Amino acid sequence: MNILVMGMGYVGITTALMLAESGWTVTGYDVDERKISSLKQGVVPFFEPGLDALLSQHLNSGQLHVTSSVKSAIKQNQVIFLCVGTPSLDDGSPDLKYIHSAAESIARYMQEYKLIVVKSTVPIGTNGRLTEWIASHQISAVPFDVVSNPEFLREGSALYDSLHPDRIVIGTDHKCAARQMRTIYNAINAPILITEPKTAEMIKYASNAFLATKISYMNELARLCDTLQIHIDDVAKGMGMDHRIGAHFLKAGIGYGGSCFPKDINALLNTASGHQHRLTILEQVVQVNNTQHAFYLDKWEEIVGGFRNKNVAVFGLSFKPDTDDLRESPSLSMISSLISKRASVKVHDPVAKLPAQLSSSPVEQCDSIDEAVTGADAIILCTDWNHYKYADWSRIHSLMKHPFLFDGKNALNRREMEVAGFHYFGIGQPYET
Ligand code: NAD
Repeated sequence: MNILVMGMGYVGITTALMLAESGWTVTGYDVDERKISSLKQGVVPFFEPGLDALLSQHLNSGQLHVTSSVKSAIKQNQVIFLCVGTPSLDDGSPDLKYIHSAAESIARYMQEYKLIVVKSTVPIGTNGRLTEWIASHQISAVPFDVVSNPEFLREGSALYDSLHPDRIVIGTDHKCAARQMRTIYNAINAPILITEPKTAEMIKYASNAFLATKISYMNELARLCDTLQIHIDDVAKGMGMDHRIGAHFLKAGIGYGGSCFPKDINALLNTASGHQHRLTILEQVVQVNNTQHAFYLDKWEEIVGGFRNKNVAVFGLSFKPDTDDLRESPSLSMISSLISKRASVKVHDPVAKLPAQLSSSPVEQCDSIDEAVTGADAIILCTDWNHYKYADWSRIHSLMKHPFLFDGKNALNRREMEVAGFHYFGIGQPYET
């Protein structure tokens, strides 16, 4: 089976490599010519562990090739995975223009049966509407099926997640399409759930919203733990030992971010309000998340006696470690708030770069940790990269003016930091030992 993947972003490249690993002959296409020329040279245009090596391997073996010619790519492949972006519009609903432009190309160039697999996260009902949409844009009536196949990978471990998913969700009403999907995923050892397209779409949103709920729940509890001088991580450990709760996603911090949780929750809230429903729990999940970084920044400001004219080193820009993705990163909100409090900010990230909207502001990106912390009055850790967990904290301490350390991810060990000489403050932790 020849498979085309449209959209060579985080999901598309990972999916293309997963399919190539599964033994299929895969073509990757993107409208962004720079991405395609980078991929042709074996270079993944963003940071994601493991992708570069596998890309070179499959380009060399001929199992994968990339192209900027959409017409021939659609003609030559029977199965088409749609992995294009679905960013938020101002009202919170997803912008489907990339889905529509990809679907328009398919409608225009298809000359025989196509199985169109929608991996992009799309509002409930989109797969059904897409079928009508493609049919109405076809030049001649060629048969096709649209299947919902939501993606659950996490950036930072995208390849592993794609090759070892907890489940594969397939939304289709057609037995033949379901059979073809089972064949495509034959090499992947995971339970397959075949369901209706609308249910598959809802599973994706409900899963992300639930994970975000766990995080906001812990973050709000952490605020109370601060006051009660209880360590939220110990609470999480005890909770997580109950298999009904599960140990994952119980880590308190300065809030969730990334390209999916904020966008997908807004989309689900938008869908609910469009049907005269309110998802009040999710509204609070968003509210807690939107206020979490400011809640802690205000606390920390009191501790240092105001951030005005203070030198603050921010550790981490990306929304989580092992990715350079800055979309909705809490670190960016933290930096903006520090600027509005008139702090002088230096940032360090092992991989990610300051985005354009901040690069003209009074923030300096430093190549080394030493550079960022020299003369600093405080450090705020926003991303729990291993670079910081295993940094030489005694040396960092020796370079600072005042040793205030605010750990927005509870990534560091309080006792070790105190031994190194820091005044250490985490999220939902006792201040005095
Ligand atoms: P991305 O922005 O990294 O990549 C999208 C790519 O699609 C871009 O390279 C863009 O140039 C390309 N594109 C746009 N229009 C196109 C067209 N007509 N034809 C071909 N290519 C086109 O996005 P992403 O993070 O990979 O996410 C893709 C989808 O998967 C989204 O719906 C997202 O919500 C969902 N998703 C993302 C993740 C994640 O962690 N990133 C996880 C699960 C699901």
